[in-house]
Amino acid sequence: MSNETSSLNWSDANLIKKFSAPRSTRPVAPTARTNPSPAAPITTWTSLNRWAAENKIGQPHLISRTPVATYAIGTANGTMVLDIGSRDATWNGTEIQLGFGPQFIDDQVFVHGLDLYKNLEPLLLGSPLAFGNRVIVIDPGHGGSNVGTHSVLDGRFEKEFTLDWALRLAPLLATSGWQVFLTRTNDVDIALSNRVIFAEAHHADLFISLHFNSTPDRNKKIAGLETYCSTPAGMPSSLTRNYSDIWSQYFPNNSFDAQNLQLAVLLHTALLRASDEDDRGVRRVRFIGVLHGQRHPAALIEGGYLSNPHEAKRIENPAFRQKLAQAVADALK
Ligand SMILES: [Zn+2]
Repeated sequence: MSNETSSLNWSDANLIKKFSAPRSTRPVAPTARTNPSPAAPITTWTSLNRWAAENKIGQPHLISRTPVATYAIGTANGTMVLDIGSRDATWNGTEIQLGFGPQFIDDQVFVHGLDLYKNLEPLLLGSPLAFGNRVIVIDPGHGGSNVGTHSVLDGRFEKEFTLDWALRLAPLLATSGWQVFLTRTNDVDIALSNRVIFAEAHHADLFISLHFNSTPDRNKKIAGLETYCSTPAGMPSSLTRNYSDIWSQYFPNNSFDAQNLQLAVLLHTALLRASDEDDRGVRRVRFIGVLHGQRHPAALIEGGYLSNPHEAKRIENPAFRQKLAQAVADALK
């Protein structure tokens, strides 16, 4: 991703709508869930047992008492594992993050209403992600003078690897019936806002931005796969990278909170399986400007760390980039 992506975010400031400041998240007596509006985020906590009963799914069950109480809840879609007091959770074994750590209240597991609505419902109860007319925009990150990060091995730029990944991916998607548009097919500068406009103009059903990662603190050990989607309004982001994280912000892409998560999980799971990379999780963020204005489900993939020598070596191998391309295509068959 590199700092270039982050610093360009603020050029999309005109897409940001500001609503009231976040309200208290202190647990309160459970109330019936109501549909959220951007101006009135859900702030209630709900008994997970009651929610499961209301939705006619199996009750959550304790799977471990140490180091923290851990519960699993499942449907035919899959299984979510929740730790009391922790935002870390897993979905079918893949790392995801809740907005708020579940709590014990009166010996029952309580989950924040926004997590029920934005995380548990889409995954446990959601229908499979719809692909519409199968029009997809693939966005190779960076380009031109915006080089992205670079390989710790030899200085080759992120922009080269993201373009190659996209060019490998496009024909694979076309084979499975997608109409594919790339925001760039060569080494040119494109503003983040124009990548958003491009997707809108091509009536995209999905938008996927491709990147490789680096860590600014020269910690070369960090490695693995991360997949990002927009943070729902009212919820803290999983990662802020020192950017302000204004919970009340509501972006056009927030109309697709449920589908964004489904898309990110779908991609992340397929990529983990194909690449054997470390799972660094599906994350909700506000600092990625190219996602804010997308008026369709959108996700950004960080396909590994160019700052890690072992991972940089893999990323520099065309066969590995073909694997990544195949994984994304397989996820969207
Ligand atoms: Zn990047």
